Amino acid sequence: MAWFSCVSLRTVPNPNAEVSAQRRVGLFGGTFDPPHVGHLVTAVNVRHALDLDLVILMVANVPWQKDGTRDITSADDRLAMVTAAVERVPGLVAGRQEIDLGGNSYTADTLVVLGMEYPDAELFTIVGDDAAANLHTWERSDDVVNNSHMVVVDRPGAPVELDDQVDWFHVEVPHLDVSSTDLRARFSDGRPLDYLVTNATLDVIEQRGLYQVAVR
Ligand code: ATP
Ligand code: MG
Repeated sequence: MAWFSCVSLRTVPNPNAEVSAQRRVGLFGGTFDPPHVGHLVTAVNVRHALDLDLVILMVANVPWQKDGTRDITSADDRLAMVTAAVERVPGLVAGRQEIDLGGNSYTADTLVVLGMEYPDAELFTIVGDDAAANLHTWERSDDVVNNSHMVVVDRPGAPVELDDQVDWFHVEVPHLDVSSTDLRARFSDGRPLDYLVTNATLDVIEQRGLYQVAVR
């Protein structure tokens, strides 16, 4: 099929039988610069509400819609922060598949990869409502809608308009008025990050010298 052609042949099905036996898999993609409590609370609550076996916090390689708008922390550093954030959280994992694919990250391609890794699974694409409202701007958004169930959670702020042709699963999660943009501002002016970012993620930030500040 044509949409397979965008996926590098370096992508191989995951040989880990235990992982590939997952039946309901959530794809929660983002830049995660840095990952915060809003991402984590969303992931665990969507997993619970929809009885997902797994939610993958998928680290975008090049978040092409943000590229050029600001300095973006390297994909490797963002993966390390997400990996730390989800450690010891049952059912949440950090995803490196978009990094392995390289180039701009398109959810349409990621779903193809996940379809190979989890051949028997139902896939769920999870987005906050700001991202959901922009679905029409995504590369091959029709493929995303056709190849996964679409899940939306509200973020604080004005309600957004969603494409009513899409059969959205709407999941209620605690509305946490936190964003990575706000957190980056906190780093730069020295406001506390505790409880907004996990301690393990703060350790990674400190060890790797990210955001150019001492975080504690
Ligand atoms: P930035 O401010 O840099 O855009 P962000 O906090 O929006 O960062 P992203 O990495 O852009 O985080 O978002 C990844 C996904 O997480 C998106 O679908 C986004 O809507 C969702 N998301 C981000 N923050 C929250 C939150 N507080 N509550 C629910 N969903 C969120
Ligand atoms: Mg965002």
